[in-house]
Amino acid sequence: MAGTVAVYAGSFDPLTLGHLDIIRRGAGIFERVVVAVGTNAAKRYLLDPGRRMDVIRESTQDLPNVEVAQFQDLLVDFCRRIGAGVILRGLRAVTDFEFEFQIGLANRDMAPAIETVFLLPAPRYIFISSSLVKEIFLYGGDVRPYVPDATFRALVEARDRAGRG
Ligand code: ADP
Repeated sequence: MAGTVAVYAGSFDPLTLGHLDIIRRGAGIFERVVVAVGTNAAKRYLLDPGRRMDVIRESTQDLPNVEVAQFQDLLVDFCRRIGAGVILRGLRAVTDFEFEFQIGLANRDMAPAIETVFLLPAPRYIFISSSLVKEIFLYGGDVRPYVPDATFRALVEARDRAGRG
């Protein structure tokens, strides 16, 4: 969509192949996709924001119209600030629907000019979530089928650092 900037926001703690699938699909539709990494001071993250952003940058190197940014404000305010007209979201299953529907309508209420667009991932990614990946990894399972290489390296690094600390 010529001229349309889409924002794909989330924690990305860490980036999964499900997220990457949505980013790729979005990059094929919109002129620019800004992947916005949320930094909510009240949340505990496994990877710090800089590391999460590096992982996304590394994993989207082949997509020239994808950028990575950090945001702390209300998502619609961030969108207005950077001139984005679309909020991109991924829908995995019915379990995502209620939450996504609620925040989608709230965002529209606050910012009627911004449209929320939902994309479906490939079926093989539907069960993947950041929290599931973290849980499998922390218990010693192999998460490589679910994450890009850069995520796997960041997880190993975080574990090694925690082990030393
Ligand atoms: P948060 O941690 O803020 O809930 P996430 O990083 O988990 O955010 O997700 C951000 C967006 O990516 C959401 O729209 C979510 O539905 C979508 N998403 C997460 N995992 C997948 C997946 N496996 N397939 C498709 N979309 C996904």
